[in-house]
Amino acid sequence: SQRVVIIGAGIVGANVADELAQRGWKDITVVEQGPLHMPGGSTSHAPGLVFQTNPSKTMTSFAKYTVEKFLSLKKDGQSCFNQVGGLEVATIPERMEELKRKHGYASSWGVDARLISAEECLQRYPLLNPESVIGGLYIPSDGLALAARATQLLIERTSAAGAKYIPSTPVTGIERSGGRVTGVTTPSGSIPADIIVSCAGFWGVEIGAMVGLEVPLLPLAHQYAKTTAVPSLKGREINNNINGMNATLPILRHQDQDLYYREHGDQYGIGYYGHRPMPVRAADLGVTGKHVDEKNMPSRLNFTPKDFETAWNESQKLLPILKETHIADGFNGVFSFTPDGGPLVGRAPNLEGFYVAEAVWVTHSAGVARAVAELLTTGRSETDLADCELSRFEEIQLSKEYVSETSQQNFVEIYDIIHPLAPKISPRNLRISPFNTRQRELGAYFLEVGGWERPFWYEANKDLLQYLPSSWQPVERDAWTSQHYSPISAVEAWKTRKAVAAYDMTAFHRFEVSGPGAQDLLQRLTTSDVAKDSGNIMYSLLLDEQGGIKSDVFVSRIASDLYQIGANTAVDFHYLSREALLQRTQSPSQYVQVRDITGGTCCLGLWGPRARDVMDSLSTDDFSNKGLPYFHVKRVTVAGIPALAFRKSYVGELGWEIQISAEYGQRLWDAVMQAGKLHGIVAAGRAALNSLRIEKGYRTYGSDMTTEHNPFEAGVVSAVDMTKKDFVGKAALQRLSQQGPTKRLRCLTIDDGRSVVLGKEPIFFEDQAVGYVTTAAFGFTVSKPVAFAWLPSRVTEGQSVEVEYFGRRIRATVSSDPLFDASNSQLLA
Ligand code: FAD
Repeated sequence: SQRVVIIGAGIVGANVADELAQRGWKDITVVEQGPLHMPGGSTSHAPGLVFQTNPSKTMTSFAKYTVEKFLSLKKDGQSCFNQVGGLEVATIPERMEELKRKHGYASSWGVDARLISAEECLQRYPLLNPESVIGGLYIPSDGLALAARATQLLIERTSAAGAKYIPSTPVTGIERSGGRVTGVTTPSGSIPADIIVSCAGFWGVEIGAMVGLEVPLLPLAHQYAKTTAVPSLKGREINNNINGMNATLPILRHQDQDLYYREHGDQYGIGYYGHRPMPVRAADLGVTGKHVDEKNMPSRLNFTPKDFETAWNESQKLLPILKETHIADGFNGVFSFTPDGGPLVGRAPNLEGFYVAEAVWVTHSAGVARAVAELLTTGRSETDLADCELSRFEEIQLSKEYVSETSQQNFVEIYDIIHPLAPKISPRNLRISPFNTRQRELGAYFLEVGGWERPFWYEANKDLLQYLPSSWQPVERDAWTSQHYSPISAVEAWKTRKAVAAYDMTAFHRFEVSGPGAQDLLQRLTTSDVAKDSGNIMYSLLLDEQGGIKSDVFVSRIASDLYQIGANTAVDFHYLSREALLQRTQSPSQYVQVRDITGGTCCLGLWGPRARDVMDSLSTDDFSNKGLPYFHVKRVTVAGIPALAFRKSYVGELGWEIQISAEYGQRLWDAVMQAGKLHGIVAAGRAALNSLRIEKGYRTYGSDMTTEHNPFEAGVVSAVDMTKKDFVGKAALQRLSQQGPTKRLRCLTIDDGRSVVLGKEPIFFEDQAVGYVTTAAFGFTVSKPVAFAWLPSRVTEGQSVEVEYFGRRIRATVSSDPLFDASNSQLLA
């Protein structure tokens, strides 16, 4: 096996060492700046509450594994998990609704959860104030991780398996040669390494800086206090009261006041997220000294009682028994926050052999460690890593300013009820397309993703609602799905299907792959045969070695040594760039480079049955089916502007994506809108696009399919050319093709014709939760709500299922896919 150095012996580092040792890796060294018995990082004082349910399937699966692992991690018959259950209470109706939604996530991701009445909350937690609580969500398998003890047991177990621990030794540098790590520097000398995994917790920024890697996390202090003993709880029999198993009641969350609770014997522990964000710079805390104990460690800052006043008042309201106590001990404990709340896991894009597993809660620690070990040993995590991939951020999101502002906002909002479409309030307008001024004039409603401002609909189209035919009328929506929605989208969808519409496609990632080795690179990494003539467009997949879908891309051959890739995320860019670097290093004659051209270009989707009329009035180029066939690209001039016209469509209508250099953007917009007037053109937004693409059966990578799915399951096998000599994932697909998929991405329609869902809702079949919705919309063309959903293969077209939405069951039917224009007659018009 390879020589691995792990930086940090907190709960994450110790788990990574353990997962690697379990997979037979021998040469593992863990370097820790603090003493091993209490290293002094966040783990050393973590109260260890594990609430497993999370909107993210990945995070929930990590938490489930942590519970499973810590239950089985035993010494003297005592495990490292006290499964007291978890209770989240609601004190306002909005929270009760939110808990229903959360119950849905639990069912979707396979966690047993129960919505319970106020009475049952009191039964389970008799100390609660009956006046305050209106209901709750109870999860029997949640509980308390004994993080410090688990860390010690893992250190023991891995040491016995041969791992070496070097305590009280800071890593001060990362040694490199030829773009690879070679070792770490410490005051007592170098330690050679083929692989380095930084598990440095909130010191991650400092370790990243050693290799020029921006690690987007912000250490923040968070208040945790212990009360004096509750007199009436004294002397109570507490099960298993050894090794810190000193709790019997469920762990408790009171999110309406940003609070959580656990027992410490007859004392109470209270955690609070309602105070002002208190950012910290790890570098200012210094390196752990020799003397570390319960009260002295870098991650433990002095308590600021003023910040805790509201918490204390509210705690006494929720748990009146606390009036018998006072605060015995409190501290401001430091741990990591990130711009989107997810952890940072994976390979550094700029340095071979350097990996990161940071900003990870105790809750997810074992799951994250398993994923890292899988990455290192097999090249692929079995659990999709999109929500925590280190390289998921756009360049602008790595700036110190962005990380600081958004991570603090995450702290503030940690327990807030947040709509899935809700954009950040700030920072905004980081990336705007050249069409932005015109879009504002048209009253665009913008939502933000990856720093981009993307119009969802245009208020200017409101007047057209009066002309909307009755079969296109949108349905009334409930209060939740009405947020970040407007019926104007119906108009925009209608105009796209019946006339013509202009969509801003600028925010989609565009990369150029160029050089004599471009074809070879893409032949190897994509599933289509890209050795086609210039002018061809291929819809293709990027697979991993096991056939899991890493992304779906459009590969357009512009010239013999120049391709353009329409991709999904920054992760795609880092993957392609790394593979290009490896290729040109290994065979310089096969030189290839990947360049992100997204920001320097812009793109307008012109789609609809009248699109050709508009184009013909703007260009002398031939846009007929012969002049530019479907799935072809050519250089053209539109309104005097040099452009690339891609004959493809994300909505299933005739038309082109017109891509130009960014400085011409406004001119193109004006020309298209002017010429389109005669043909009834509208500007249309993402909400319409999402509806039209689901009807047409087009998948969105990241939501509808991930690395956990293969092309057979996801229904995208047409993107795979099995006659091609070889490509990443081909062998796996050959194997998989013999087996037949066990699960399938299916298209659903909602039977009542009106109940719109938003995604991630569980699906019940024969009263069992068997799957979940990925993306959903109201299908304006088919006049009913539509959705994609993962279901077992045995649930087939025509069968009835139920979608759980805010605790209610909605009947749906597995429908044909696509729902709209299966023969492509609109598209090929
Ligand atoms: P750490 O435990 O900080 O370990 C990182 C290690 O790296 C440290 O030991 C450090 O000394 C070492 N290191 C750093 N730099 C170097 C270097 N240059 N050389 C050598 N060693 C280095 N999570 C939950 O899941 N549930 C909770 O209820 C919960 N409550 C919390 C309450 C508080 C008050 C706090 C502060 C955190 C809480 N957390 C909770 C979060 C959780 O504690 C952390 O996310 C988790 O412990 C992080 O583990 P880690 O191993 O990544 O980091």
